[in-house]
Amino acid sequence: MRPVTIGVLSYQGTVIEHIKALSQLEGVTPMEVKTLPALQEVDGLILPGGESTTIAKLLNIFGLMEPLRQRILDGMPVWGTCAGEILLAGEILGEQPHLGVMDFAVRRNAYGRQIDSFTQYAPIQGISETPVELVFIRAPWIESVGEKAQVICRVNGHAVAARQDNMLATSFHPEFTRDLTVHRWFAQQVEQHKYQ
Ligand code: GLN
Repeated sequence: MRPVTIGVLSYQGTVIEHIKALSQLEGVTPMEVKTLPALQEVDGLILPGGESTTIAKLLNIFGLMEPLRQRILDGMPVWGTCAGEILLAGEILGEQPHLGVMDFAVRRNAYGRQIDSFTQYAPIQGISETPVELVFIRAPWIESVGEKAQVICRVNGHAVAARQDNMLATSFHPEFTRDLTVHRWFAQQVEQHKYQ
């Protein structure tokens, strides 16, 4: 793979786990992103799992909410896991500040509390035909989808991943597994976008 720099938004959450996964991919330089100069350096960005209200607050405090939204709308590949998915959602049931760039609505903590966390295996359309290990921790699900977004994974009847142009959102956490399938797929998207 040709060299790419992939950022992980690094205020809070599963930052280290994403950095570790990315550092196992040939051609990928992972980078922590907290500030505007760092955001400008990366070719793609992961929004980690964590607490979406906290991450959104810090995006506003660091002045990154608007520049990040703009970079996404300009085509930078972005992938949000769990809290990251919530930040990307066009609508959150029970409104809170977020990026709002994808055409779906999410329900936070849809599966219940921390104790209701679980693992499942399912294929992800366009990313992996073989079932992938999916880890759900106080996860959201996608409650409804608009015309622009496409649901690419379902678990127990609920939509748990969606794509739209340069954007990917997953309710689950591939960064908590040893399976690099989704990270590898995302890195390829970043490469294609950088060298197109
Ligand atoms: N429940 C968290 C939120 O609403 C998300 C949990 C996670 O990222 N694992 O932001």
